[in-house]
Amino acid sequence: MITETGLEALAAQGVAELLATDPILYDLLERERRRQHETLAMIASASAADASVLACLSSSLGNVTTEGYPGARFHAGCAVADPVERLAVDRARHVFGAQYANVQPHSGTSANQIVLTSLLRPGDTLLGQRLTAGGHLTHGAPPSFTGRYFRGVGYGVDADGYLDYAEIRRLALAHRPKVIVCGASAYPRLIDFGRFRAIADEIGAYLLADISHIAGLVAAGLHPSPVNAAHITTSSTYKQLYGPRGGVILMGGDADAPGPDGRRTLARTIDDGVFPYFQGTPQLNAIAAKARAFGIVGAPPFRDLARRVLSTASALARELAGRGWHVLTGGTDNHMVLVDVSRRGLTGAVAEAALESCGIIVNKNQIPGDTKGPRVAGGLRFGTNTLALRGMDTTAMGLCADLVDQVCRSIRMRGDRDFDLPDHVRADVAEQVARLCHDHPLPTISGAVHA
Ligand SMILES: *Cc1c(COP(=O)(O)O)cnc(C)c1O
Repeated sequence: MITETGLEALAAQGVAELLATDPILYDLLERERRRQHETLAMIASASAADASVLACLSSSLGNVTTEGYPGARFHAGCAVADPVERLAVDRARHVFGAQYANVQPHSGTSANQIVLTSLLRPGDTLLGQRLTAGGHLTHGAPPSFTGRYFRGVGYGVDADGYLDYAEIRRLALAHRPKVIVCGASAYPRLIDFGRFRAIADEIGAYLLADISHIAGLVAAGLHPSPVNAAHITTSSTYKQLYGPRGGVILMGGDADAPGPDGRRTLARTIDDGVFPYFQGTPQLNAIAAKARAFGIVGAPPFRDLARRVLSTASALARELAGRGWHVLTGGTDNHMVLVDVSRRGLTGAVAEAALESCGIIVNKNQIPGDTKGPRVAGGLRFGTNTLALRGMDTTAMGLCADLVDQVCRSIRMRGDRDFDLPDHVRADVAEQVARLCHDHPLPTISGAVHA
């Protein structure tokens, strides 16, 4: 038993104890670490947190139990927790040019639940992008609580896959939602937050912008920011912010605007909505990790990473299209590439499984007008957050597209979720994936994030 240890010794002791006393779990965690190094991750909704972010997550700040906000806690013992949360808030505001930030939401979903339940009453109408057209569950989709407790009305995309603002305005005027949600989980083009705000203002609705997917590009100034255009902005912190699993709520100029009760400002409404209305104790270790992630995102070198996220995504779209794959909207303005594999007789489920068997990790995704359900789907979604972090450039995207193409061309379908893939293809692609991953190791030290 070590009694006095610094952070480094504590971490080393924890790993040593895990290995000695729980080898089953140790082995699983070690296998996962290796899996992330040795596979080509192209999940658009993922990234890899820096080792310094992971260190914050495993710190003893997680042992602090409290409720409320810095300077107004319900428990003693927050002498360190308070400055940590203030640091996270200050950095979030700095990174996004926001007037207000709340870093307590446990996830992006929680952030949306907090905002929606603070602005709406059960049965009120909510207008958001349909799940099948790239929206998120929490934007009013039927399987989510947001579709059950509110009246969710959905907008889609036009025949070319683009948001149709005239149609969105028509739906807004017809249904008069109290909240309009913009932002998506599967949409490869720019979002015009100003146009959404004009529609919201026309009917006196609040505008919520959910930038979970594109928060890094927004922070780097490579996608227009909604922070002043929308009343409220939410984001997950583990996707393009390369932070811990968690959420954040931001506000710009509308922080002091009146909330729905006409009594409290929007800022106060959301503070109360996080605690005591929706959540209990904050996860202070996660808040420290968010502070660290915002610190990395706010430093100049992050812009280079964000630029590489963009340039690799455009290159990947071009290279896949060049090999005959139907890229939705013909390309991308962000980190995401959507491919309709149904046109080549495949399902998303089969393509995903075939690629994973070769070490390429993507996800099946429904595409607009999809005839298959979400567990089968007719599309694939690719993202370049992790490829860019590994230092891959546009040239490497040619090879990535080639590997995807080799696998998908060789699939023999046996059902919506059943297929054969020739052994020689699997072996050949797996070997090339291993080489590519070896040549572009996942950075594990902060400095390498900016290499
Ligand atoms: C991923 C995502 C969320 C949910 O975030 P979690 O932190 O996983 O709950 C919310 N909105 C959008 C648009 C997302 O893509």
